Amino acid sequence: MANQDTIFGKIIRREIPANIVYEDDLALAFKDVNPQAPVHILVIPKKPIAKLADAESEDAALLGHLLLTAKRVAAEAGLTNGYRVVINTDADGGQTVFHLHLHILGGRPMAWPPG
Ligand code: 5GP
Repeated sequence: MANQDTIFGKIIRREIPANIVYEDDLALAFKDVNPQAPVHILVIPKKPIAKLADAESEDAALLGHLLLTAKRVAAEAGLTNGYRVVINTDADGGQTVFHLHLHILGGRPMAWPPG
């Protein structure tokens, strides 16, 4: 499937290495290779949804699961003082890898608005 042919698809299939911090049947979480904060973890669905704009009603439970996975991973990373969850979507959203992913950013105060 074309959508699976991303760097994240290769990480799911263990074709390239990643620092994986959580995995279950539906989701995978791993450290971002170019961290923008002391803690920067990506949470992705194993289902190859390219971007949030492509998600369908049938993905509702999966999307909820990704948020709860983000909560779990953030807690396991020790982010007791808070964190930010970001989904960059398509060109204006700054998305560069077209496999849906949630960024968990923490370990320092976050500024607003984002750049
Ligand atoms: P986006 O810009 O699409 O929202 O985020 C893509 C993220 O994936 C970036 O933060 C980038 O550093 C990260 N990334 C890109 N390639 C790799 C990789 O091969 N391994 C890991 N762990 N992260 C990657």
